[in-house]
Amino acid sequence: MSVAAWCRESLVEPLLSVLFPPRCVGCGDFEVHLCESCRATLVEAGRECCPRCGEPGPKPLVCGRCSACMTRELEYRSARSAFCHEGVARSLVSELKFGGQPVLGRLMADLARPAFRDFVASTAPPAEVFATWVPSHKSAKRERGYNQAEILARELASGPPLLSCAELVAKTAGTAHQKGLGRADRLSNLRGAFSPRPDIEKRISSSVIGSPRMGSSGLRHGKGRQGTGSVLRYSAIILVDDVYTTGATAAAVSSVLASHTGLPVHVFTFSRAVAPRGQGHD
Ligand SMILES: [Zn+2]
Ligand SMILES: [Zn+2]
Repeated sequence: MSVAAWCRESLVEPLLSVLFPPRCVGCGDFEVHLCESCRATLVEAGRECCPRCGEPGPKPLVCGRCSACMTRELEYRSARSAFCHEGVARSLVSELKFGGQPVLGRLMADLARPAFRDFVASTAPPAEVFATWVPSHKSAKRERGYNQAEILARELASGPPLLSCAELVAKTAGTAHQKGLGRADRLSNLRGAFSPRPDIEKRISSSVIGSPRMGSSGLRHGKGRQGTGSVLRYSAIILVDDVYTTGATAAAVSSVLASHTGLPVHVFTFSRAVAPRGQGHD
Protein backbone atom coordinates (compact mmCIF):
# COMPACT_ATOMS: atom_id res chain seq x y z
CA MET A 1 0.00 0.00 0.00
CA SER A 2 1.37 3.42 -0.93
CA VAL A 3 1.92 6.08 1.74
CA ALA A 4 -0.84 8.18 0.19
CA ALA A 5 -3.28 5.25 0.28
CA TRP A 6 -2.30 4.43 3.87
CA CYS A 7 -2.83 8.05 4.92
CA ARG A 8 -6.21 8.12 3.20
CA GLU A 9 -7.43 4.87 4.74
CA SER A 10 -5.91 5.25 8.21
CA LEU A 11 -6.15 8.97 8.84
CA VAL A 12 -8.28 10.95 6.43
CA GLU A 13 -11.29 8.64 6.01
CA PRO A 14 -11.74 7.89 9.75
CA LEU A 15 -11.49 11.61 10.50
CA LEU A 16 -14.00 12.49 7.81
CA SER A 17 -16.39 9.80 9.03
CA VAL A 18 -16.36 11.41 12.50
CA LEU A 19 -16.78 14.97 11.21
CA PHE A 20 -19.28 14.01 8.53
CA PRO A 21 -20.94 10.71 9.45
CA PRO A 22 -21.91 8.71 6.36
CA ARG A 23 -25.54 8.75 5.33
CA CYS A 24 -27.32 6.25 3.13
CA VAL A 25 -27.60 7.67 -0.41
CA GLY A 26 -31.06 6.06 -0.66
CA CYS A 27 -32.90 6.90 2.56
CA GLY A 28 -30.55 9.24 4.46
CA ASP A 29 -30.03 6.87 7.40
CA PHE A 30 -26.87 7.62 9.34
CA GLU A 31 -23.75 5.44 9.77
CA VAL A 32 -23.64 3.75 6.37
CA HIS A 33 -23.29 4.92 2.78
CA LEU A 34 -25.90 2.39 1.66
CA CYS A 35 -28.21 0.58 4.06
CA GLU A 36 -29.25 -3.03 3.57
CA SER A 37 -32.80 -2.24 2.51
CA CYS A 38 -31.71 0.35 -0.07
CA ARG A 39 -29.03 -2.02 -1.34
CA ALA A 40 -31.75 -4.61 -1.92
CA THR A 41 -33.50 -2.24 -4.35
CA LEU A 42 -30.57 -2.21 -6.81
CA VAL A 43 -31.68 -3.74 -10.11
CA GLU A 44 -28.98 -5.84 -11.73
CA ALA A 45 -28.53 -5.24 -15.43
CA GLY A 46 -28.25 -9.02 -15.58
CA ARG A 47 -26.59 -11.58 -17.77
CA GLU A 48 -29.55 -11.63 -20.13
CA CYS A 49 -28.36 -8.50 -21.87
CA CYS A 50 -27.32 -8.17 -25.49
CA PRO A 51 -23.84 -9.77 -25.64
CA ARG A 52 -22.73 -7.09 -28.10
CA CYS A 53 -24.03 -3.69 -26.94
CA GLY A 54 -25.02 -4.70 -23.41
CA GLU A 55 -28.62 -3.47 -23.63
CA PRO A 56 -30.27 -5.01 -20.53
CA GLY A 57 -33.05 -7.57 -20.65
CA PRO A 58 -33.68 -10.74 -22.64
CA LYS A 59 -33.76 -9.78 -26.31
CA PRO A 60 -34.21 -11.66 -29.55
CA LEU A 61 -30.87 -11.64 -31.37
CA VAL A 62 -30.27 -11.70 -35.11
CA CYS A 63 -26.67 -12.54 -36.07
CA GLY A 64 -25.65 -11.71 -32.48
CA ARG A 65 -27.26 -8.25 -32.59
CA CYS A 66 -30.29 -6.95 -30.72
CA SER A 67 -32.74 -4.36 -32.02
CA ALA A 68 -30.82 -1.56 -30.23
CA CYS A 69 -27.52 -2.27 -32.00
CA MET A 70 -28.78 -4.00 -35.16
CA THR A 71 -27.86 -1.19 -37.52
CA ARG A 72 -24.92 0.27 -35.62
CA GLU A 73 -21.25 -0.37 -35.98
CA LEU A 74 -19.69 -0.27 -32.52
CA GLU A 75 -16.22 0.98 -31.68
CA TYR A 76 -16.04 -1.54 -28.84
CA ARG A 77 -16.33 -5.34 -28.93
CA SER A 78 -18.84 -5.66 -26.08
CA ALA A 79 -20.38 -3.71 -23.23
CA ARG A 80 -21.79 -4.70 -19.85
CA SER A 81 -23.10 -2.90 -16.79
CA ALA A 82 -23.67 -4.02 -13.24
CA PHE A 83 -26.97 -2.20 -12.55
CA CYS A 84 -29.81 -0.40 -14.28
CA HIS A 85 -29.39 3.37 -13.91
CA GLU A 86 -32.37 4.05 -11.70
CA GLY A 87 -33.18 4.61 -8.03
CA VAL A 88 -30.27 3.96 -5.71
CA ALA A 89 -27.83 3.18 -8.57
CA ARG A 90 -28.52 6.61 -10.04
CA SER A 91 -28.01 8.23 -6.62
CA LEU A 92 -24.68 6.45 -6.11
CA VAL A 93 -23.41 7.59 -9.53
CA SER A 94 -24.54 11.14 -8.84
CA GLU A 95 -23.04 11.29 -5.34
CA LEU A 96 -19.74 9.84 -6.55
CA LYS A 97 -19.56 12.32 -9.41
CA PHE A 98 -21.03 15.50 -7.97
CA GLY A 99 -21.32 14.93 -4.23
CA GLY A 100 -17.62 15.08 -3.40
CA GLN A 101 -17.72 11.53 -2.05
CA PRO A 102 -14.90 9.56 -3.70
CA VAL A 103 -15.18 7.08 -0.83
CA LEU A 104 -18.30 5.73 -2.56
CA GLY A 105 -16.07 4.35 -5.33
CA ARG A 106 -14.95 1.44 -3.18
CA LEU A 107 -18.51 0.58 -2.20
CA MET A 108 -19.66 0.78 -5.83
CA ALA A 109 -16.75 -1.40 -6.99
CA ASP A 110 -17.66 -4.00 -4.35
CA LEU A 111 -21.30 -3.95 -5.49
CA ALA A 112 -20.31 -4.25 -9.15
CA ARG A 113 -17.60 -6.88 -8.67
CA PRO A 114 -19.66 -10.01 -9.42
CA ALA A 115 -20.76 -8.56 -12.77
CA PHE A 116 -17.24 -7.29 -13.43
CA ARG A 117 -15.69 -10.71 -12.78
CA ASP A 118 -18.16 -12.39 -15.12
CA PHE A 119 -17.48 -9.79 -17.78
CA VAL A 120 -13.69 -10.04 -17.53
CA ALA A 121 -13.95 -13.82 -17.79
CA SER A 122 -15.91 -13.44 -21.04
CA THR A 123 -13.13 -11.39 -22.66
CA ALA A 124 -9.71 -12.99 -22.06
CA PRO A 125 -7.65 -14.61 -19.27
CA PRO A 126 -7.27 -11.95 -16.53
CA ALA A 127 -3.47 -11.84 -16.99
CA GLU A 128 -4.07 -10.63 -20.56
CA VAL A 129 -6.65 -7.97 -19.68
CA PHE A 130 -5.63 -4.36 -19.18
CA ALA A 131 -8.07 -2.08 -17.36
CA THR A 132 -8.34 1.65 -17.97
CA TRP A 133 -10.96 4.36 -17.54
CA VAL A 134 -12.76 7.18 -19.32
CA PRO A 135 -10.56 10.20 -18.62
CA SER A 136 -11.87 13.55 -17.52
CA HIS A 137 -10.43 16.89 -18.62
CA LYS A 138 -7.76 18.18 -16.24
CA SER A 139 -9.87 21.24 -15.38
CA ALA A 140 -12.81 19.03 -14.37
CA LYS A 141 -10.50 16.79 -12.36
CA ARG A 142 -8.95 19.81 -10.66
CA GLU A 143 -12.36 21.18 -9.79
CA ARG A 144 -13.70 17.87 -8.48
CA GLY A 145 -10.43 16.64 -7.04
CA TYR A 146 -10.73 13.24 -8.69
CA ASN A 147 -12.08 11.37 -11.69
CA GLN A 148 -14.91 9.07 -10.65
CA ALA A 149 -14.23 6.61 -13.51
CA GLU A 150 -10.58 6.32 -12.46
CA ILE A 151 -11.61 5.57 -8.87
CA LEU A 152 -13.98 2.83 -10.04
CA ALA A 153 -11.41 1.34 -12.44
CA ARG A 154 -8.64 1.30 -9.86
CA GLU A 155 -10.91 -0.21 -7.19
CA LEU A 156 -12.20 -2.88 -9.58
CA ALA A 157 -8.72 -3.73 -10.86
CA SER A 158 -7.24 -3.98 -7.37
CA GLY A 159 -9.60 -6.80 -6.35
CA PRO A 160 -10.19 -10.19 -7.91
CA PRO A 161 -9.53 -10.73 -10.74
CA LEU A 162 -6.41 -8.59 -10.30
CA LEU A 163 -5.80 -6.59 -13.45
CA SER A 164 -3.11 -4.24 -14.68
CA CYS A 165 -4.56 -0.75 -14.72
CA ALA A 166 -3.38 2.64 -15.95
CA GLU A 167 -4.54 5.69 -17.87
CA LEU A 168 -4.18 5.16 -21.62
CA VAL A 169 -6.20 8.06 -23.01
CA ALA A 170 -6.37 11.73 -22.04
CA LYS A 171 -9.26 14.12 -22.49
CA THR A 172 -7.52 16.95 -24.25
CA ALA A 173 -10.48 19.18 -25.02
CA GLY A 174 -13.21 20.38 -22.72
CA THR A 175 -16.70 19.53 -23.91
CA ALA A 176 -20.11 21.02 -23.28
CA HIS A 177 -22.28 19.12 -20.81
CA GLN A 178 -23.76 15.99 -22.35
CA LYS A 179 -26.93 15.95 -20.30
CA GLY A 180 -30.03 16.27 -22.45
CA LEU A 181 -28.20 15.60 -25.71
CA GLY A 182 -29.06 12.68 -28.00
CA ARG A 183 -26.45 10.22 -29.25
CA ALA A 184 -25.68 12.10 -32.48
CA ASP A 185 -25.17 15.42 -30.66
CA ARG A 186 -23.09 13.70 -28.01
CA LEU A 187 -20.87 12.12 -30.65
CA SER A 188 -20.22 15.43 -32.39
CA ASN A 189 -19.67 17.08 -29.00
CA LEU A 190 -16.99 14.50 -28.20
CA ARG A 191 -15.31 14.34 -31.59
CA GLY A 192 -11.59 14.97 -31.15
CA ALA A 193 -11.91 15.37 -27.37
CA PHE A 194 -9.81 12.29 -26.53
CA SER A 195 -6.19 11.58 -27.42
CA PRO A 196 -3.93 8.64 -26.68
CA ARG A 197 -1.28 9.16 -24.06
CA PRO A 198 2.09 9.53 -25.77
CA ASP A 199 3.41 6.28 -24.28
CA ILE A 200 0.25 4.23 -24.86
CA GLU A 201 1.96 1.63 -27.05
CA LYS A 202 4.72 1.08 -24.51
CA ARG A 203 2.19 0.69 -21.75
CA ILE A 204 0.04 -1.84 -23.52
CA SER A 205 2.34 -3.74 -25.90
CA SER A 206 4.22 -5.84 -23.40
CA SER A 207 5.75 -5.77 -19.99
CA VAL A 208 7.59 -8.10 -17.72
CA ILE A 209 5.48 -9.75 -15.07
CA GLY A 210 7.14 -9.45 -11.71
CA SER A 211 9.13 -6.34 -12.58
CA PRO A 212 9.17 -3.61 -9.93
CA ARG A 213 6.21 -1.25 -9.88
CA MET A 214 6.59 1.26 -12.68
CA GLY A 215 5.81 4.28 -10.55
CA SER A 216 6.34 7.01 -13.12
CA SER A 217 3.96 5.48 -15.64
CA GLY A 218 1.35 4.49 -13.11
CA LEU A 219 1.39 0.92 -14.41
CA ARG A 220 0.53 -1.49 -11.67
CA HIS A 221 0.43 -5.24 -11.67
CA GLY A 222 -1.78 -7.46 -9.57
CA LYS A 223 -0.08 -9.03 -6.59
CA GLY A 224 -0.92 -12.51 -7.73
CA ARG A 225 1.28 -12.24 -10.77
CA GLN A 226 4.47 -11.01 -9.21
CA GLY A 227 7.70 -12.91 -9.39
CA THR A 228 7.25 -14.96 -12.54
CA GLY A 229 9.56 -12.83 -14.67
CA SER A 230 7.85 -13.83 -17.92
CA VAL A 231 6.75 -11.53 -20.69
CA LEU A 232 3.10 -10.52 -20.66
CA ARG A 233 1.22 -9.54 -23.77
CA TYR A 234 -2.25 -8.09 -23.36
CA SER A 235 -5.08 -9.23 -25.58
CA ALA A 236 -8.02 -7.14 -24.38
CA ILE A 237 -8.78 -3.77 -22.82
CA ILE A 238 -11.56 -3.13 -20.32
CA LEU A 239 -12.72 0.46 -20.36
CA VAL A 240 -14.45 1.47 -17.10
CA ASP A 241 -16.90 4.32 -16.64
CA ASP A 242 -19.57 5.18 -14.09
CA VAL A 243 -22.65 5.20 -16.34
CA TYR A 244 -23.52 4.24 -19.92
CA THR A 245 -26.19 6.54 -21.29
CA THR A 246 -26.17 6.60 -25.09
CA GLY A 247 -22.74 4.99 -25.46
CA ALA A 248 -21.29 8.08 -27.17
CA THR A 249 -18.50 8.55 -24.61
CA ALA A 250 -17.65 4.84 -24.60
CA ALA A 251 -17.55 4.94 -28.41
CA ALA A 252 -15.25 7.96 -28.56
CA VAL A 253 -12.72 6.58 -26.06
CA SER A 254 -12.92 3.03 -27.46
CA SER A 255 -12.16 4.36 -30.92
CA VAL A 256 -8.92 5.96 -29.69
CA LEU A 257 -7.97 2.87 -27.68
CA ALA A 258 -8.66 0.41 -30.49
CA SER A 259 -6.86 2.39 -33.17
CA HIS A 260 -3.73 2.95 -31.08
CA THR A 261 -3.41 -0.48 -29.50
CA GLY A 262 -5.01 -2.79 -32.05
CA LEU A 263 -6.74 -4.56 -29.16
CA PRO A 264 -10.46 -5.24 -28.73
CA VAL A 265 -12.07 -2.88 -26.21
CA HIS A 266 -14.77 -4.04 -23.80
CA VAL A 267 -16.78 -1.44 -21.90
CA PHE A 268 -17.85 -1.92 -18.28
CA THR A 269 -19.95 0.60 -16.39
CA PHE A 270 -21.48 0.64 -12.93
CA SER A 271 -24.90 1.45 -14.34
CA ARG A 272 -26.72 1.65 -17.63
CA ALA A 273 -29.58 3.86 -18.69
CA VAL A 274 -32.53 1.69 -19.66
CA ALA A 275 -34.62 2.81 -22.61
CA PRO A 276 -38.40 3.00 -22.18
CA ARG A 277 -40.06 -0.20 -23.26
CA GLY A 278 -39.79 -0.74 -26.99
CA GLN A 279 -37.46 2.19 -27.61
CA GLY A 280 -33.74 2.50 -28.15
CA HIS A 281 -31.65 5.33 -26.74
CA ASP A 282 -30.92 7.10 -29.98
ZN1 LIG B 1 -31.07 3.39 2.93
ZN1 LIG C 1 -27.32 -5.03 -28.83
